[in-house]
Formats: sequence, structure tokens, C-alpha cells
Amino acid sequence: MICDLTAQIDIRKVAKMVLEIPETIHFEGERIVTTWTGTNFGGRRQWFLCPSCDRRCAIIYRIGTGPLWCCRICGGGRYLSEHESPHQRRLSKLLKARKHFGQKEGGILAPFPPRPKGMHPTKYNRIRKVSLKLELEFLLDDMAAFLKMSTKDLEAVLAESKL
Ligand SMILES: [Zn+2]
Repeated sequence: MICDLTAQIDIRKVAKMVLEIPETIHFEGERIVTTWTGTNFGGRRQWFLCPSCDRRCAIIYRIGTGPLWCCRICGGGRYLSEHESPHQRRLSKLLKARKHFGQKEGGILAPFPPRPKGMHPTKYNRIRKVSLKLELEFLLDDMAAFLKMSTKDLEAVLAESKL
């Protein structure tokens, strides 16, 4: 099962839509039980009990065999990102930071997106600085791989060419 592509119910999202989630839910002919735990801040939090293993979980997935719904572990669930190569995952992470700032296209070669309204300049500058550094490292690694040399060697070549 690929979690991202499987029908699922996130109890945290349901909790935002309804006043109260009953202790026991009858859904599609199946009985799904919930439970509560306390939080560090004196509140309490509701969970599903996986119909298959009784483990507490926030999200149940519709696998449609045995019990219809189950937790990620019972469903053998993996995330799409786990199928990405380390290279892709690194790039996705960099793009996620830019998307967070409202960038819609252009990838990491586009100018870094401007500071969103309401974000403190200090915070923006800090994130921007870290992001640009990680992007540069990524591009250097990429270029080095393309040239079939180590990043260290490439950096030495670039440093020399500045003389
Ligand atoms: Zn389970």
C-alpha cells in the first residue's frame, strides 16, 4: 500500500470538522473504536484503535481486505517519498521550502521567493540563507556527478579558477 494514494481518514482532520467524534464509529459496516490519551499540555487527544491490531493511530487506511480499515503498519504502508532516490528526496525538500514561501514554478534555479507578508525579516533571512546554502551544495553535488568527479575536487577546480 502506498499511503499517499490510499483512501484514508485522519482523526485530527475529522476532529476539526465535527464537534465530537463518538467512542465507537460504525462505518461501512465496520466498527471502529477510538480512545483518548492525555497531552503534556493538560488536554486530551483522540485516536483510532486499528481494527486489525488495536494499536493507537491517527490515520486509518482503507485496504479493503480482512478488516476494511487498518493502520499503516498492518497495511504495510509506505510513503511515495520512500520511493524517491536520495537525490530526488533532497530536491523535493529544497522545493518544499520554496513552495512554503509561495513559489509556484521554476524550481531551485528561479530567484528565491520574496518574504511573505507577516513573516519577520530575521526569520525570513535565516531560512533564506540556509536554503540557498543547501541549494548550492545540491547543485555542486549534481554538477560534480555530471562531471564524474567528487564535489571536493570540483570545489578545488572552482577555487583555482578564481585566481
Ligand atoms: Zn494495525
